[in-house]
Amino acid sequence: MAKRLLEHEEYGECRSLNHSWKRIGLERYGPEVLLVLRCRACSTEREDMVSLATGDVERRYRYAKDYVLKFAPNEARPYRSDFRREWIRTVLEEASGHVIRLPKRRSA
Ligand SMILES: [Zn+2]
Repeated sequence: MAKRLLEHEEYGECRSLNHSWKRIGLERYGPEVLLVLRCRACSTEREDMVSLATGDVERRYRYAKDYVLKFAPNEARPYRSDFRREWIRTVLEEASGHVIRLPKRRSA
């Protein structure tokens, strides 16, 4: 399964860490607001129709090309943790020999 997890590796960060949303649209439709978001990394779009009365959301996605992996009916589907494990391995390989320093945290 590991090989499947690295298909279209350019999406590894989004599959592992979730998308990085930026608001690109906001439009009112009576009692609801359509909020349109686009991922900064992969261009997947998300549309949230938000009820102003309840805050409830109807959500749909328009995924970037080849983002969605197709599986045969009898093929095991990976968990997000599977994607994360394989993605972090590739990041570690790319960073091998380099020290990655974390930014200092501000003290409270
Ligand atoms: Zn993304």
